[in-house]
Amino acid sequence: MLSWERIVKISDDRGLEETIRERAWVEIDLSALAQNVQNIKSLLSQNTALMAVVKADAYGHGAIPVAQCVLKAGASWLGVATIPEGIELRQAGISAPILILGATTTTEQLRALVRWNLQPTLCSHQQALVFSEALTPDDPPLPVHLKLDTGMSRLGVLWEDAVDFAQWVQRLPNLEIASVYSHFATADDPDATVMEQQHRRFQTAIDRIRQAGIALPCLHVSNSAATLSSTTLHYDMVRVGLALYGLYPAPHLRSTVDLRPVMQVKARIAQLKTVPVGTGISYGHHFVTQRDTRLAVVGIGYADGVPRNLSNQMDVLVSRSGRVWRVPQAGAITMDQIMLDVTDVPHLSVGDVVTVLGQQGRERISADNWAQTLNTISWEILCGFKHRLPRVRVG
Ligand SMILES: *Cc1c(COP(=O)(O)O)cnc(C)c1O
Repeated sequence: MLSWERIVKISDDRGLEETIRERAWVEIDLSALAQNVQNIKSLLSQNTALMAVVKADAYGHGAIPVAQCVLKAGASWLGVATIPEGIELRQAGISAPILILGATTTTEQLRALVRWNLQPTLCSHQQALVFSEALTPDDPPLPVHLKLDTGMSRLGVLWEDAVDFAQWVQRLPNLEIASVYSHFATADDPDATVMEQQHRRFQTAIDRIRQAGIALPCLHVSNSAATLSSTTLHYDMVRVGLALYGLYPAPHLRSTVDLRPVMQVKARIAQLKTVPVGTGISYGHHFVTQRDTRLAVVGIGYADGVPRNLSNQMDVLVSRSGRVWRVPQAGAITMDQIMLDVTDVPHLSVGDVVTVLGQQGRERISADNWAQTLNTISWEILCGFKHRLPRVRVG
């Protein structure tokens, strides 16, 4: 199932809207997304292109509408992790250049790259050889992007071997070097020591490749954090993911640019009831009421992307005639449902909407809050909303 099949634009069709929003849903604010793109672009020089990283279904936001929106708003490249992610975009009619950031190795994958006009990352001599030999002079030369490992210790040829690698690729028929790039390990760390070392290594490798007489049309190293950190890291292109979606890679980068979260998660109250003091709630009875308690059962759970480890550690927002309450979730988060202690909120009804992630009035619950509680990063929280919830476009 492709994600775009679940994406429905709110229409005048009340029946349709109600069906989609009967239980729980994700709202994607495309105007916030477009504004984030424009604000990020305002940090870049005229000569620096913006690659929008839309891997993992655009970090859980829906790859196709996100890609269409960011291209319209000023991004010129798309980055995905895998070939199927690239094909999904092509099948939706998107024609912008697409870089596959992950590894591709086999001749079958090479045929798919050619067929769907996707551009691979090259990270070994062997891979370059396989691709070159699988192509024929009848194929157009394949644009390839050389990945250097300058300290991330993930994909890429070690930076000391960059010249040898570039010469190797240069000599192979049917391949054309489209860019050379690298990736930072610590760009979100206020201490820039490691990032600066990686930057120096990248610059040294580039200088040596050029001294060997190889022209390099495009260089890029920056993810969101590096893009917000320093214009000296922008080169010809920046590869921005998280910031597009309105989250900051680190608190100290908040002052650099205005970003608005694109995703909100909402759900409806399915049942209300009052239980006496001393009542155990949900699997395991890990929560026991300390008072007579008004409980709301809400139709969203861990199968929808609410991590079970947030049990008894999260709030949701409930708004009632202009007032907003932050109410605690109670007991184990189950696969499809959670319970809330709504004792302090008057006049709730079945069908009322609660904000699980997002903003109501001045109150906000962000992916950063969840990430902090769970000792993880906001990237992982966003990517968790990929399974079951319909996505609704707003804005
Ligand atoms: C995911 C990814 C990015 C985007 O990272 P953000 O921190 O989300 O901006 C950039 N470059 C590469 C190689 C990636 O894998």
